[in-house]
Amino acid sequence: MAYNSADIAAFKNVWVFCEQRQGKMMPTTFELISEGRKLADELGVELCGILLGDDVDGIAAELGGYGADRVYVYNSPLLKNYTTDAYTKVIVDAVEEFKPEIMIYGASHIGRDLAPRCAARLHTGLCADCTHLDVDLNGYVEFLRTGSNVDVDNTNFETKMFDVNTNLKMTRPAFGGHLMATIVCPRFRPAMATVRPGVMKRRPFDEEGVKKVEIVHPEFELTEADVQTEVVEVVKAAKKLVDLIGAEYIVSVGRGIAKDVEGGIALAEELADVLGGVVGASRAVVDAGWMTADHQVGQTGKTVHPKVYIALGISGAIQHKAGMQESEYIIAVNKDENAPMFEIANYGIVGDLFKVVPLLIQSIKDAKAEA
Ligand code: FAD
Repeated sequence: MAYNSADIAAFKNVWVFCEQRQGKMMPTTFELISEGRKLADELGVELCGILLGDDVDGIAAELGGYGADRVYVYNSPLLKNYTTDAYTKVIVDAVEEFKPEIMIYGASHIGRDLAPRCAARLHTGLCADCTHLDVDLNGYVEFLRTGSNVDVDNTNFETKMFDVNTNLKMTRPAFGGHLMATIVCPRFRPAMATVRPGVMKRRPFDEEGVKKVEIVHPEFELTEADVQTEVVEVVKAAKKLVDLIGAEYIVSVGRGIAKDVEGGIALAEELADVLGGVVGASRAVVDAGWMTADHQVGQTGKTVHPKVYIALGISGAIQHKAGMQESEYIIAVNKDENAPMFEIANYGIVGDLFKVVPLLIQSIKDAKAEA
């Protein structure tokens, strides 16, 4: 029977596009598999990864450690490096064959290129840059209760238009981050979403899952004639970018360093150094050209959840908070006692960062010397 994206009942299981580069799994994949496990459990279905590359069997089983039940592996020299044509063809063919009901991709450069192409070919919807996903209505209502000002107890979520309990509810910032929009794709399958790196939390790794995961090699067709582009060489950016997403300690600077930019950044670097962490920044700092864009935390930067996030001279705009409010401990230093950052800080210090930070550095050094 011809493939029909509107035949909702024909689709089953949750799929994650497992992004690898040069045979190395991208960390976002583990976050998406972890989130996919949650969605698959809510639906009572299987979680599958789809992995494309050349000779990538060796990295497939690890996905089981984060909750994958099965991994579909497609090996071909034509899939060694990402090309839009080849990856789209293989994924679209696989979706038409196995019919997953949900499919999620990382909002990486590759995911942002691939997902809309697949969605258009498969005649389904795509919600880009999601920050929250739910199938379960109760879970979604709890998310709204704690993360929004919606009066959930007096809201009727039922609708005659679609089944609220089985449709994926995809939430993302809209209107410049001034509101969060929840989007559903009720009439077509798979419901597709991209999720920004660092947004979803990785589950603890389970060795048993690695033993249990099923690795499948479906037959597929891909010839040179399907691929219009040739990757001649892959050149890595020479500059080492700051690893904010994996960091346990982040010291971020804001426009509060304006009176001595170099001095402020040097203080932040020294504080990050004694903590074994890295330096981040608000968008104001990046826009001013004081630090490069890879340091930016927030809605249009990176989403982080370190053990400790120290905000130095950052006011706490909603777009900045969106990227760091899930940190375990937040420490804010600001000379304005009414700065919104203090509303979410576990510890707040009202004062001039140029005076406070040297004292912090010294006390951490003293504590380390005593330990
Ligand atoms: P300011 O708001 O100017 O705050 C500076 C703070 O420093 C003030 O609170 C001040 O009291 C304090 N201060 C000054 N001097 C000192 C001192 N000596 N010691 C201690 N404190 C001092 N912003 C982001 O950060 N990330 C994003 O991803 C992001 N995305 C955005 C997306 C959109 C669509 C839009 C519209 C905006 C976005 N923004 C983002 C911008 C955001 O709205 C704020 O403008 C920005 O976060 C402000 O940066 P800031 O806190 O460093 O500067």
